[in-house]
Parts: sequence; structure tokens; C-alpha cells
Amino acid sequence: MSSVLITAVTPSDRRLLDRLTAPLAKSFVVPVNVAFGEPLDGSFAFNLSRNQFSSMAIISKLLERYEDLEGKVLGVTSGDLFVPVLTYVFGEAQLEGKVAVVSYHRLGEDFYGLPADEELLQSRLLKESVHELGHTFGLLHCSNYLCVMHSSTGVEEIDIKTDKLCADCRKKLSER
Ligand SMILES: [Zn+2]
Ligand SMILES: [Zn+2]
Repeated sequence: MSSVLITAVTPSDRRLLDRLTAPLAKSFVVPVNVAFGEPLDGSFAFNLSRNQFSSMAIISKLLERYEDLEGKVLGVTSGDLFVPVLTYVFGEAQLEGKVAVVSYHRLGEDFYGLPADEELLQSRLLKESVHELGHTFGLLHCSNYLCVMHSSTGVEEIDIKTDKLCADCRKKLSER
């Protein structure tokens, strides 16, 4: 049986992680837990010239750290993530692999100069967490804009989609 371990990658707020466990467990019908102990210090992945964190470096480090663990690992950080070809990413995952990482750096209203909204932040983080974990379970991007596997490049698109898998994606997931 599969499972999901959520782990903080600093900078990160553990309270946000705790609130992901129940809805993620419901989405994937697997046990979900937050890792005990020290969060992973994300400073190794910091790129000085970009002033951002390398999502690939974090994924590699999580793979190493949780080498012996069965199941999926989701790193959650408030660090701004990048991949070399893009300005930023909300997250990255190993397709049909073990590790995913999500950032809530750009998910808060305060990032866009608006008043902070904790519930909205949590809801966006959940959607992006389901999305990236969906990739680790082998799901690809979905053309249904309400489906959580729809690719989002901005928070507007995240807000349009639901935190649920569409019927097609749900079927694909259950076939795996
Ligand atoms: Zn994606
Ligand atoms: Zn879908």
C-alpha cells in the first residue's frame, strides 16, 4: 500500500502542512502524515543569482533523505522555486516517481499586494499539492479546467480549478 509523507523544507510553516493531511488522504485514499523532527534546511538549494530555490535540487535531496521510505514524499516550502527554463514554478514532481515539492511563495494574496487571506492560501496550496502528488501517481495534465490536474501558471487558474480529480483522472488513478 502506498502512503504520503509531507515534509517541511525551510523556509516553511508547519501549520500549513498539518492542514494538508486530511484532504490529501481523502484525495488519494492513502495514509498521509507530516514528518516528525527537523525540517529539511532548504538553503543548499538556494540560487544566489536568481534569488530562488532550485526545485530539482530539493527533489534530489528528498530522494536521498527518504531513500528507505516506501511511498510518496511531498516537500512544502515557502521558498520561491524555479526550474532553469522558467521564471518560477508552483511545484515540481517526478512523474510516476516518489518525490514532489510545492511552494506557497506565490500562493498568498499578500504576494500580489493584496490583504493576506489564510483560507485562500491554504486552498491554493492544497490544489497544488494534490496536483504535484497526482504526477507522482502517474497522472498527466488534464484539459478539464475544473480538474486539479489542469496546469496552472497563475493563481487565477488555480482559483478556477477545484481541488478534485475529474472523473477521467480518478479512473486513471484507480487503474494504477
Ligand atoms: Zn503539473
Ligand atoms: Zn482531470
